[in-house]
Amino acid sequence: MNPKVVIKKCSEYINDEVYKTVKDSVDLLGGMSAFVKNGERMLLKPNFLVGKPPEAAITTHPAVVGAIIRLVKEAGATPIVGDSPGIGNAVKVAQKCGVMDVAKELGAEVIDLATSVYVENPEGKMFKRLEIAKEAIDVDGIINLPKLKTHGQMFLTLGVKNMFGCVVGARKPQWHMAAGDSEAFARMLIDTYLFLKPRLTIIDGIVGMEGNGPGSGGEPRKLGLIFASTDCIALDRVITEVLGAKAHDLLTTKVAEEDGLGETDIDNINILGERIEDVKVSHFKFPPVVSIEFKLPFSLHSYLRKPLTSRPYINKKECTLCNICVEICPPGIMTKTDRININYDDCIRCYCCLEMCPEGAITIKNGWLKRLIAR
Ligand code: SF4
Ligand code: SF4
Repeated sequence: MNPKVVIKKCSEYINDEVYKTVKDSVDLLGGMSAFVKNGERMLLKPNFLVGKPPEAAITTHPAVVGAIIRLVKEAGATPIVGDSPGIGNAVKVAQKCGVMDVAKELGAEVIDLATSVYVENPEGKMFKRLEIAKEAIDVDGIINLPKLKTHGQMFLTLGVKNMFGCVVGARKPQWHMAAGDSEAFARMLIDTYLFLKPRLTIIDGIVGMEGNGPGSGGEPRKLGLIFASTDCIALDRVITEVLGAKAHDLLTTKVAEEDGLGETDIDNINILGERIEDVKVSHFKFPPVVSIEFKLPFSLHSYLRKPLTSRPYINKKECTLCNICVEICPPGIMTKTDRININYDDCIRCYCCLEMCPEGAITIKNGWLKRLIAR
């Protein structure tokens, strides 16, 4: 059967309006009782990248998390809000991004996904063994609540990518290293998503993020949209189309198609609610595509690598020398002197530094040949 993806308009973060839109979206998929049973413990997994106010559009908005808390409770289940940010913990992020207030008011617990365990994953394309937070495995099911944002390495962070938050924050750099290049990392994201398989995904695209996302360097962009599906591969494909990107710009879609996992043909996806052509976003600012350096023939690699390669660039005026990027850089190739230094020869272009920089001081800079080609 063709997967279903719901697109709904929602213009503002007004609690009752968001609740109604989310409920209408879930109803089109069969209603919350189709996904949640009485007495179950459900993990609600927002994007809690860093603790910033909701207006920064870095984290899933409290109104969206609140709407799902209400729906899960109405279905007789227990909602538990949890994530594992790269730095700090989910409880602190929830306090800063406004979700803690909503969770307290509605009677939901907020937890940090902090206990790392290895799990066998025999179906995995990239890894047959994954490392996941025990708290995400011990629940009866997961509802995935991503924020629609750009992402330096993956192009966009949507439904599939948000499940990487169930890997404990301190262990994320090791998995970046284990995967190596961006396509392998995309395969690992698909493995993680399929292992955890959230029952339902609601994407907060009322105000998304464009430009130099997914952290403090990105710009909030009002889109007025909520997306819902049980199938993140189809869901992410539809959003890519709505934003006006090519299907393969999103690496998780590309590798899913290559590996025959899920539906990536837009004509085979059953769109409910709004039609794509009626909600198309114009002039959405995407990040530079970063991965072509890994596909060069070996003979050309050493000559063309630098001019063709994107790389992280630190804006010294905005850098406060907080050292966060140095601490989280997976291969440990950043150092702090009177400024932050990067050994570009060993940089794996994971853009964890960009993601976690609290000042938005890191951007992606293209090599000169790549800039020339892009003109
Ligand atoms: S995380 Fe950002 S502000 Fe902190 S040292 Fe790195 S570049 Fe500077
Ligand atoms: S410098 Fe940034 S992009 Fe390069 S490896 Fe370190 S964290 Fe990743």
